[in-house]
Amino acid sequence: MMKPLVPNVEQLDAHCWRMLNKGFSMNTGLIVGEDLAAVIDTGSGPREAAGLYAAIRRITDLPLLVINTHAHGDHVFGNNYFAAHGVEDFHASAAAVEHLRGHGNEERQLVRFLEPEMAMRQGPYSSIVVPTKIIAETGTTLELGGRTLEVFGMGRGHTAGDLLVRCGRILFTGDLVEEGGPPNFEDADPFLWAELLDRLERQCEQDTVIVPGHGNVVDLDFVRRQHREMLAALREGKEIVASWPAGSFDPTAYQLELLPYGPEQSTIFLQRLRELLP
Ligand SMILES: [Zn+2]
Repeated sequence: MMKPLVPNVEQLDAHCWRMLNKGFSMNTGLIVGEDLAAVIDTGSGPREAAGLYAAIRRITDLPLLVINTHAHGDHVFGNNYFAAHGVEDFHASAAAVEHLRGHGNEERQLVRFLEPEMAMRQGPYSSIVVPTKIIAETGTTLELGGRTLEVFGMGRGHTAGDLLVRCGRILFTGDLVEEGGPPNFEDADPFLWAELLDRLERQCEQDTVIVPGHGNVVDLDFVRRQHREMLAALREGKEIVASWPAGSFDPTAYQLELLPYGPEQSTIFLQRLRELLP
């Protein structure tokens, strides 16, 4: 039997926890009401999901619902394990559902070292469970009993359909905010993402506890820095793309160093700009 991957558990307030999955440093959230508990993102396959589920069951034995912040494999591939353990309601944006239906199998590659069974679609809990509860673009509230969650999108950013979850002063942002590594631009619109961060800043208070998709808990100042850095990268990136002959994609090592995201994400960032700019 495969070994569960045990997350680090941190309590954020009386009813809210975050569980750091060590493989991708992805944060799973747990919010416990009187009747129901909500799990935000399920890990990258059955190994992480088994560790998460055991950690959750040490905290609560209430029925669970799942919210997937977006459709990347490290956030949704634990769904099958949770479904097999009685979870019926999986919530996501329409765009995330569409991505999982159309490209879910392509996401398997991402988890090949950490979750080989998931990558190869072998053994129990290795199917892709696509959420059936679609969160409207205007957002919604979920009642857990004595505790209300706000679940909402803010337009295109890290992907075409990122959800945020707010409970009191705690805000789970999915990969719209990333700590400990560069933002991931693979499926992003960096222009709209920067605008989204501007709106997000204005929604946060000085004491908002922001749980990013990956890494440690951050605050409003961190979001401001990520926003400013993205604006500067967009200015630099537009000039770089404009310096190439029409239609070409040819970043030099020097150009990549002008960007703040390291060679790999900076390359993807420029690729996205090349595709999005006229
Ligand atoms: Zn992601």
